[in-house]
Amino acid sequence: MVCENILVPYKPAILKQMVAYSFYLFTLFLQTSCIIPKKDKLVKQFFYTIILLPLSLLSFDYHLKPVQIGSSSAYCFFGLPEVMNKKNNGNMSNSCFVNMGNSYLVIDSGPTYQYAKQAYEQMKKIADLKIKYVINTHVHDDHWLGNGYYKSLGVKIIGSSAFKTLEIEAMTRMKRRISPEAYEKTRQVHPELFVDEEMVLYLDHKRVILKNIGAKAHTDSDMTIYISSKRIVFAGDLVFNDRLPSIRDGNLKSWLEALDEILLLDVDYIVGGHGTIVTRKSVEMTYEYLKTLRDEVLRLMDEGEEIGDVVNAVTMDKFKNINLYDSMHRQNVETAYRMLEWEE
Ligand SMILES: [Zn+2]
Repeated sequence: MVCENILVPYKPAILKQMVAYSFYLFTLFLQTSCIIPKKDKLVKQFFYTIILLPLSLLSFDYHLKPVQIGSSSAYCFFGLPEVMNKKNNGNMSNSCFVNMGNSYLVIDSGPTYQYAKQAYEQMKKIADLKIKYVINTHVHDDHWLGNGYYKSLGVKIIGSSAFKTLEIEAMTRMKRRISPEAYEKTRQVHPELFVDEEMVLYLDHKRVILKNIGAKAHTDSDMTIYISSKRIVFAGDLVFNDRLPSIRDGNLKSWLEALDEILLLDVDYIVGGHGTIVTRKSVEMTYEYLKTLRDEVLRLMDEGEEIGDVVNAVTMDKFKNINLYDSMHRQNVETAYRMLEWEE
């Protein structure tokens, strides 16, 4: 047998298909059986073949299950009450969709390309409709890194105005923290349309109001999506109800004001960016946490307490059993102190 003429592809991961992988294994087998001296190369190829290649070929399965919001035509894939890690692979925020009659409206595209692809497969099982728009409520990457998949379908993506100046990062927070097979094909695709104040869409003859909060609340630029005919509003990360909110990029005062405004809407369903409660009660935990945090920190600050003492004193024990309290609460108190020091 003339072994030198057998070509073993060196980077077979790019071939992506099982056919190519089978061809690779076959040629590797032929070479292995012929070339004994090239030991190092073979060990390396063996490693790629047995360990890495199968991993790169198998995408992560998010096991997404859409949950209907009451009796409405809206559904959500609810994320876990955790931070992103290699186990949940970014499935820790909500991605929702609304059957508008003849098309879908998607609110937040999820954490990866693979997630979005699997989400649309589930949507089509409910109704085989095209997606008209994808809305990105804010710039945190667990809510929009699935954009690339929807873009590949030709769907228009609309985002809050902060995307205008958002830079493409060399490394995303998601990429660093989740597994490569879940992140595969994920690109940073930003929206092409932006909402500075308000935008009204008419989808299948129904009115959809996209509203930019207009003040720093959870982030610099948060958006709500209100569909009066469905008696529903999607509030993005202005609403958390199964884990503690992070206030790192926000502002307590205007966040509370934004929640007051949401509660004025004549709706039955208020859907947050994290958490499975979707009635008007969904707002309660976030509201109470932010208000207590603000009041407590301000009170101690006015009494002349230093930041370290305030962080130790404001334990807010009532929230101790809420997910992520241990990892997030002290940091929130410190952020609140620094924020409120400068508030007029
Ligand atoms: Zn967020």
